[in-house]
Formats: sequence, C-alpha cells, structure tokens
Amino acid sequence: MKIICIGRNYADHIAELQNETPAAPVIFLKPETALVQRGQPFFVPDFSKDVHHELELVLRVCKNGRHIEEKFAHTYFDAIGLGIDFTARDLQSELKKKGLPWELAKAFDGSAPISPTFKPVADFTDFADINFQLEVNGEVRQQGNSGLMLHPFARIIAFVSQYITLKQGDLIFTGTPAGVGPVQPGDELVGYLEGEKLLEVPVR
Ligand code: MG
Repeated sequence: MKIICIGRNYADHIAELQNETPAAPVIFLKPETALVQRGQPFFVPDFSKDVHHELELVLRVCKNGRHIEEKFAHTYFDAIGLGIDFTARDLQSELKKKGLPWELAKAFDGSAPISPTFKPVADFTDFADINFQLEVNGEVRQQGNSGLMLHPFARIIAFVSQYITLKQGDLIFTGTPAGVGPVQPGDELVGYLEGEKLLEVPVR
C-alpha cells in the first residue's frame, strides 16, 4: 500500500507558512514504513529539532482505479479517519529553499500515525462539512472543516488518479488546517472526528 498526501489544501495553513496557493493539488507520498497504527507512540527522530503535527482527514481507498472521473470519485473510498502528517519543518524548509523534494522531511519512519478505526462513509451526510480537531496536552491546537479545503475529496481523487493508480488499501491524507506546531517527547496528541475521539498519539 501507499500513502498519498495533499499539501497546501487549506488557505489558513498556506497563510501561516507563507506559501503560495497552488492551482493544482500539491502531491507527495509516504511509504508503508511511515505508518503508525493501533495507538503506538510517535518517536521524535534525532535528525530534526522542529517536528510539527499536521492533523488531517484520511480517506481509505476501497478499490483500484485510474483516470477516475470526479462524479465517480466517492465510490473509491469507503471510510474516513484521522492521521497526523508529521513533518520535520526545519528539514523541509532547507529542502524547499533548494527546490528539492520533501521526502526526507515528510516520509520518514513513523511519520504517519492513523486512527485505529475509520468511520464508514455512510456515517457522513456531507463530505463538505466534516469537523475535526487536534488537542495537544488537552489544549485545542487545530480545528478544521472539510468545507474549507481548496481541493475537495472528489477533485483530489480525480487529479491523483490521472498520474498514480489508486489501489485498495491505499490511504489519502487530505491536507492540514492552520495551527500546526512543534511536538516534544511527553506530548499527548488527541484527534477528534465530528466530536468523537478517534486518534491518540503519545509522543516519545
Ligand atoms: Mg500535511
């Protein structure tokens, strides 16, 4: 399986990092070795002094497809969960300055914890109105609503599948809202999806 991630998909997050707003979705991948499942801790890697949390809605791909039309895109994912796109921001800034790919800052081992459970799509009445939230040590740090995405789920799937075949079991991280910030050992991250506690990530 692979993890497909969308960058710069919320205007408020683009503004906080002073990035340009992209016309097309910004795509990068994480390998399977980035996954952290079942509430295992996230270990801060020693190559970064500024690892940030990015809470994101995650789609679970349920069938293979390529060149998917937007109107059929909703049939290619069957559940929505939460994930953290951990990012070594110091490393990413250096790579961006040099015009280099982001993988070292984004795709390292353990950089993609996901919620142990995903909610079936039937639980959602409107994909453009899904609320999610991250607390760090009990304090709200990120609040998002899928209606604020620049590229909604269907467009992401249509766009990505022009280039990369989606396979059953793939995950799509759909971008983070504002409020990203550094984590340190001892932090407890808790993610809520529509008010329900779904994700817990102890930082070590
Ligand atoms: Mg992200």
